[in-house]
Amino acid sequence: MEEKIIGVMGAMPEEIRLLYEKMTDRGEETAAGVTFYTGVLAGRRTVLCCAGMGKVNAACGAQLLITKFGAGALIFSGIAGNMTDKIGVGDVVIGKTLLYHDAERRMIAESWPHLQEFTGDAAMIAAAEAACAEAGVKYIVGKIATGDDFVGDSATKNAIAAKCAPDCVEMEGAAVAHVAAKYGAPCVVLRAMSDNADENAYETLVAKPFDISEYCTTAAKICEGLIGRL
Ligand code: SAH
Repeated sequence: MEEKIIGVMGAMPEEIRLLYEKMTDRGEETAAGVTFYTGVLAGRRTVLCCAGMGKVNAACGAQLLITKFGAGALIFSGIAGNMTDKIGVGDVVIGKTLLYHDAERRMIAESWPHLQEFTGDAAMIAAAEAACAEAGVKYIVGKIATGDDFVGDSATKNAIAAKCAPDCVEMEGAAVAHVAAKYGAPCVVLRAMSDNADENAYETLVAKPFDISEYCTTAAKICEGLIGRL
C-alpha cells in the first residue's frame, strides 16, 4: 500500500517556519493564494502550508491539502489562548473535541457529516501525547473552541466559557476538523498556549510579536515528534 501523505498546516508564517526549515526534498505549488510545500518531514511524505487565520482560510487550506495534494491525514500546529487553570502559557492542548463557539451549530449539523462537535483521531492524539512527553512539555487532551474573533477581553472569554467550557480558544481548529470529518480523514490539532485570552492577550501577541515564536517553536517540535510516530 502506498504511504499516506500527511497534511500539516498553520495559520501564521511563524507557526510553520520551523517545520518548513526541517523539511527535505522540498517542492512548492500555489493554490488559492496559498503556497503548499511538498517534501519529507520526520521521515514521512508531507505537504505543509500556512493557510491564514480564521475559519474560511483554514477550511480552504484543509480542503486543498486533501483533494489537491492527496493528504490522508491532517495536523494543525499553532498557538491559542488558554481557558483553563489545568495548564498555563507555554503548555499544550491536544484537541480531543473541537467546536465552533460563534456559530449556529445545530443548523450547520443538518449537513454532512451531521456533527455539532468534531473529534481528534485517537491514534494521532496518542502519538501527540507521546511527542509531548518526550519533549518534556506539559499538556492536556481537551476541548478546543474556534471562532473568527481574537479573544482578548474577560467578558468575551467568560461568555465563551459559559457557552462551551473549552480548554483553549483559537480561530481555525474546528474548521480543519470539520473538513477532515467531511472526507473521513483523521486529524489532530495541537495548540501551544500563547496567552490567556484576556486583556493582556493582544499586547502579548500583536504588540510584541517576538513572544509568538517561542510558543510556535513548542508546537512545531511536538508536531515533528508526532509525525515521526505516525
Ligand atoms: N501577529 C498576529 C497575531 C494573531 S494572534 C497579528 O498581529 O495579527 C491570532 C492567531 O493565533 C490565530 O491564528 C488564532 O488561532 C491564534 N490565537 C492565539 N491566541 C488567541 C486568542 N486569544 N483568541 C483567538 N485566537 C488566538
